[in-house]
Amino acid sequence: MKKEREPVFKIQIKILPVGSVEPEVLDAMLAGLVKIFPWGATSGKETPLPEISYDSQKKQYNADEILGTLKMLRSNPHELIIGVTNADLYVPGLNFVFGEADVNSSVVIISLARLHQEFYGLRPDRRLFLDRAVKEAVHELGHACGLDHCDSPACIMYFSNSIDDTDRKGPGFCRICKEMLGI
Ligand SMILES: [Zn+2]
Ligand SMILES: [Zn+2]
Repeated sequence: MKKEREPVFKIQIKILPVGSVEPEVLDAMLAGLVKIFPWGATSGKETPLPEISYDSQKKQYNADEILGTLKMLRSNPHELIIGVTNADLYVPGLNFVFGEADVNSSVVIISLARLHQEFYGLRPDRRLFLDRAVKEAVHELGHACGLDHCDSPACIMYFSNSIDDTDRKGPGFCRICKEMLGI
């Protein structure tokens, strides 16, 4: 008899709003993540944006500092925390980031700030905004699970330099990335 393949990871995905985030966004992310990841996902209660992460000159928040705070909130070694914030994020050396993952600590942060059409002077598109939020979440969680960027333009792990790149790629992992995740 063929043995069932054990999943490579035993992971519990937990979404945490960092600062105030609309419940509709969190619900869309939960629904989107469970379609892609077989481990399921839950959401937890809001945690404040750490003041230490704010750069008053850039008027942005340092993603690395936020990851440092989220790291403390993990309650067990299987937990993979994904923080979601409306704040605009940067990391030293980059003007902005859509999101950032700390592979060693299993924590991720994504920013919703640049996912709105309005940010680019365009008409609001709620569906597109929510799709982008899920895509960013899946991409950063892929990093947190050890994946690098993928060469396949249709794969969610393809590098996004701009929001157009995010819109062009597909919602899920390519076959190779899936195999690496064991899903
Ligand atoms: Zn990436
Ligand atoms: Zn891939």
